[in-house]
Amino acid sequence: MTPVSAGAELTYPLAALLAEPAGSRRDYEFDGLWPDVGADLELAAPVAGRVRFSRTNRGVLITGLVETALALVCSRCLRPIELPLRMTLNEEALPTLDLASGKPLDPLIEPEIVRLTDHHEVRLEPIIREAIQLGEPIAPVCRPDCPGLCVVCGERLDDGPHEHDEEVLDPRLEALRSFRVDDDAETG
Ligand SMILES: [Zn+2]
Ligand SMILES: [Zn+2]
Repeated sequence: MTPVSAGAELTYPLAALLAEPAGSRRDYEFDGLWPDVGADLELAAPVAGRVRFSRTNRGVLITGLVETALALVCSRCLRPIELPLRMTLNEEALPTLDLASGKPLDPLIEPEIVRLTDHHEVRLEPIIREAIQLGEPIAPVCRPDCPGLCVVCGERLDDGPHEHDEEVLDPRLEALRSFRVDDDAETG
């Protein structure tokens, strides 16, 4: 599939809003977007959501709701899973230029805060990327009681009744085990 240029789609010009008094608002909706979520994550569904930009005294408050799904694998049984994500946005963005004087504001003041571009645009893509990265679970599971993999043969314990006689271990697995011990000893 050819991704829509989500970075461009998710850039909103706010110069007009910035000229309005505090409390003024703009609402937008988006759908079907595939933003860059970083090399370590894969989206299983396009990003959809809505966002509100509210003029504050200093800049713009960004609030909204973003929905997508991540393509992950179950941390117990390694089955591919789709994890729906629903995230709220709540972030203040400040101009890079002083609105009255047009002079650049010191970027070293509050360096962690989101900045508008020199053209008074807000780029939502990096904000959404960060929200998705924060929403990624550390140990996703296909279901809460996933029994995982058999420690002896590596089969999914979900797939059926399962017993092993400790005497008849697969010799290939035995070889793998001793290899693993050696490996640990070398690196450890
Ligand atoms: Zn699982
Ligand atoms: Zn087994």
